[in-house]
Amino acid sequence: MADHGACSLGTVLCLLTGASRGFGRSLAWELCPRVMPGSVLLLVSRTEEEMRVLAEELAIKYPGVGVRWVAADLGTGDGVRRAVQEAQKLQGQHAADRLLIINNAGSLGDIRKSFVDFTDPGEVDGYLSLNVTSALCLTSSLLQTFQRRPGLQRVVVNVSSLAALQPFKSWTLYCSGKAARNMMFKVLAEEEEDVRVLNYGPGPMDTDMQEQVRTQTADPDLRLMFINKKNSGLLVDSRVSAQKLLDVLQADTFKSGDHVDYYD
Ligand code: NDP
Repeated sequence: MADHGACSLGTVLCLLTGASRGFGRSLAWELCPRVMPGSVLLLVSRTEEEMRVLAEELAIKYPGVGVRWVAADLGTGDGVRRAVQEAQKLQGQHAADRLLIINNAGSLGDIRKSFVDFTDPGEVDGYLSLNVTSALCLTSSLLQTFQRRPGLQRVVVNVSSLAALQPFKSWTLYCSGKAARNMMFKVLAEEEEDVRVLNYGPGPMDTDMQEQVRTQTADPDLRLMFINKKNSGLLVDSRVSAQKLLDVLQADTFKSGDHVDYYD
């Protein structure tokens, strides 16, 4: 088994969105062995039951890490507020030397449609609420709550995608949302010099989202490409990609605001 350097991320207070399954769940598993006892992990997604079970499993394996969860729909203002309130409860209860905000929750939007099919502003706004607005408002609220202080390193991760950099047919909303997020977090890196900001592309991972890509992508060539990736065993294991992200954070040599990909 790889040696990641025991507890080398220090005492961490981490808020992780999209923690109920897929990459977020893998990140929770890979993070716990790398943090010091006394660290706290706050899981956020809509599915309470999945997070409750995950928190129980993590508590058995890593009793030194406090794992909390909050069920919140981040596509709504109420959901974002609920997540922020839960994080605020942790203020003063921890002695973290690292605040880690991981914006991982996301959705593809309706990939059965082409650009010209998106005529309903409500559908587009709904997509952007979860995939852009919530990442901005959640991160900003947490940075206000956990202010700059000596001894605290503040780290913000945007789980990005190649789709932030490159257009893909039938992924109008997804590409637009990921591109917007990358730029948004680059601005954060420019403004807040003490905050370490990373845009991380996790690679094509074998999750529910990939299943949707293979079955619903309107463009036949793109759909076939992902079907072939799956059949050839070329999809990335989400736990391996989670390890890579944590390795990048641990090495701490990236330029704040940069986009780093799993394959880099
Ligand atoms: P999944 O669809 O498997 O998981 C998505 C996660 O986001 C779930 O935990 C889900 O929880 C949560 N989520 C979805 N909608 C909401 C909502 N309205 N409010 C709160 N939480 C929500 O996706 P992946 O794990 O594959 O993807 C994770 C991230 O990685 C995404 O940002 C994705 O764009 C990115 N990515 C994925 C790639 C892939 O190949 N899989 C490739 C490149 C990037 P719940 O349903 O319980 O709310």
